[in-house]
Amino acid sequence: LDAGRAPFAHPSSYGYLPTRVLPVEEKKRILITGGAGFVGSHLVDRLMLLGHEVLVIDNFFTGQKSNVSQWVGHPNFELIRHDVVEPLIIEVDQIYHLACPASPISYQANQIKTIKTNFLGTLNSLGLAKRTKARFLLASTSEVYGDPDVHPQPETYNGNVNPVGPRACYDEGKRVAETLTYGYYYQDGVDVRVARIFNTYGPRMHPHDGRVVSNLIQQALRGEPLTVFGDGSQTRSFMFIHDLIDGLISLMNAEPEQEQPRQQQHQQQQAQVPSAAALKAAEIMTEANDTIIPSTSAVSTPAPSISAAAVADSEVSANQGYFKTESHRLDVHTPVNLGNPAEFTIMELVHLVQKCVAKVKSKDLDAAATDEAQPSSEIRFLAMPKDDPRQRRPDITRATSLLDWYPRWKLQDGLEEMTRWYWERIKEGSL
Ligand code: NAD
Ligand code: UDP
Ligand code: UDP
Repeated sequence: LDAGRAPFAHPSSYGYLPTRVLPVEEKKRILITGGAGFVGSHLVDRLMLLGHEVLVIDNFFTGQKSNVSQWVGHPNFELIRHDVVEPLIIEVDQIYHLACPASPISYQANQIKTIKTNFLGTLNSLGLAKRTKARFLLASTSEVYGDPDVHPQPETYNGNVNPVGPRACYDEGKRVAETLTYGYYYQDGVDVRVARIFNTYGPRMHPHDGRVVSNLIQQALRGEPLTVFGDGSQTRSFMFIHDLIDGLISLMNAEPEQEQPRQQQHQQQQAQVPSAAALKAAEIMTEANDTIIPSTSAVSTPAPSISAAAVADSEVSANQGYFKTESHRLDVHTPVNLGNPAEFTIMELVHLVQKCVAKVKSKDLDAAATDEAQPSSEIRFLAMPKDDPRQRRPDITRATSLLDWYPRWKLQDGLEEMTRWYWERIKEGSL
């Protein structure tokens, strides 16, 4: 029976979507922690279709096997039940570190576990990256900005987080995860990327996740009152999942600007006699580049790949010589906002969801014949949760200039996709 099979050459013929066959030097072994979750499973799909080998580790706290079951048995895919809080020894080329519950209901259910996942889980994943020399991407969050008093939020904004509030386990957990990531970057030379992800929605969001988009769509589809916390004037920016996956993969694969060989860089710096004008220009450039790492630390605590000897030799020539390449190079490694800058109040979202649900249901002939075709118009206003940010909108200048990335999905289109996905499952009784 097996005689005619060529499972490694043509997996598509075994009921999987066709995956690219990459030349061996391009094919990467990619670990996705938290890969059975909402974001992770979409990333799995994309990387599998691109032809890579994908390993998922997940403890299934909020993720589900069904999110990745489409790949189980594929020769390029592996699913391991594992908690990132525990060390893990495997061999990989890239790590997307996503493991962490993202919905307030889930991450507040066990706050200590959330902190452990963010601290110990990130520590272990970075230790793994260090040992295997894998490139590491942290899925951070807009929550590191807390309830922002700068609007929209650029990456240089340091945030306004309550360290003892109900959201702190997640917000501070992600902040320390970023700190750890840069610790491994500066101290051990791990090649890191940090994506600060803003509210993302799409198919496969857990139905009981409790986040606003999934709540509203399900309520409207089921004809239940739509829950609005506070008066609904708070704002969010909603990014469709496919835009996020584009951004994550672009960021992971973005290369730093080509550096000169260290010796050549060192010789050039020694040959240059800095003029007052050049020093002034360097100063201006540092301000304009506005990286999260202040110019002084860029000089006194250089990234591992910068020649320490060159810095020690002449701080003046380092000032002149470094900033341009340093700031470009740092851009790839500094945090990058990924979000959709279109900002909506929660009440605006409610109206869009109602329209969208009406459209999806009216296209469905079975439902159109019944009263159920109408989405719920009743709105139930509930108390605003503590520390709920009033406003949130990303400044995506850095992602656009660095990765040529910008979100392409309009909210209406993404909501429609997601509504169809939920509606199919509600009808078949699986949701
Ligand atoms: P999710 O809850 O669907 O996925 C998280 C996954 O991590 C789940 O599969 C869960 O089982 C797994 N996990 C949790 N703790 C773990 C542990 N200790 N060990 C192993 N696996 C563990 O959430 P998501 O929306 O897919 O978010 C993925 C990542 O993106 C998270 O790090 C989150 O903080 C970040 N993020 C998401 C959003 C968003 O809007 N979805 C926004 C900002 C940041
Ligand atoms: N670690 C891991 N897998 C590896 C390498 C390290 O899980 O392949 C864990 C390791 O157990 C440790 C953490 O990552 O808890 C940090 O590792 P690192 O080597 O930086 O620190 P050390 O082990 O020296 O404390
Ligand atoms: N929200 C709401 N109704 C809901 C769930 C959430 O009005 O059923 C509000 C919530 O208070 C917040 C916004 O919608 O102001 C986004 O909440 P979500 O939990 O989706 O994301 P986050 O607060 O983490 O951005």
